[in-house]
Amino acid sequence: MTWAIPCPQQPSLPIVGSKDRFPVRRIYCVGQNYAAHAREMGSNPDQEPPFFFSKPADALVADGATIPYPPGTENLHHEAELVVAIGNGGASIPRETALDHVWGYAVGNDLTRRDLQAAAKKIGRPWDMSKGFDNSAPCAPLHPASSTGHLTSGAINLTVNGETRQSSNLSDLIWSVADVIAYLSTLVELMPGDLIFTGTPEGVGPLVPGDVCVVEIEGLGKLTTRIGK
Ligand code: MN
Repeated sequence: MTWAIPCPQQPSLPIVGSKDRFPVRRIYCVGQNYAAHAREMGSNPDQEPPFFFSKPADALVADGATIPYPPGTENLHHEAELVVAIGNGGASIPRETALDHVWGYAVGNDLTRRDLQAAAKKIGRPWDMSKGFDNSAPCAPLHPASSTGHLTSGAINLTVNGETRQSSNLSDLIWSVADVIAYLSTLVELMPGDLIFTGTPEGVGPLVPGDVCVVEIEGLGKLTTRIGK
């Protein structure tokens, strides 16, 4: 058997302290998982269960990359997020053992075409083109959980051109990493290679051509993304 066209490349992440790479299967994202961000998006964080959307795995962007300003938008937004990498799959995973399924953690940026998202919300259409566009998933190298331990608290910050835009703590997550894995795995079977972007704190805002956006999470280092002109 031969492929009819050249086989698409396997998306992957580098691993801190290793020459191996982590193959990425799917990217799931959690919506509105910090109370103050849910409020700034017009929702009530006390009343709503977690909800999910996806990005294609080939939307990953390496640390330090310059990406073109995306087409189809006039309001590209940054979203600083903790990214969880799944090492052992499962369905209906109990909350108590959920962290055993985590392979590692990374710093991510859930880039969003906010104007397209707002238009989709207004008329009840899907979010795919506002969230799952090309280069929409910058992600730093993965830290094995065997070296970092599991992250339940720690500062999460985002700067644009050196100015702080987002500043919070992982302890402010409404749904913890264990909660997210438990809940998501009741909807889909999680598999090795899946990533979960766990949601962003308040302070989301626009990126424009020429901006340098840096996300930092205590214990995981930084993710730098430049927006091309
Ligand atoms: Mn997000």
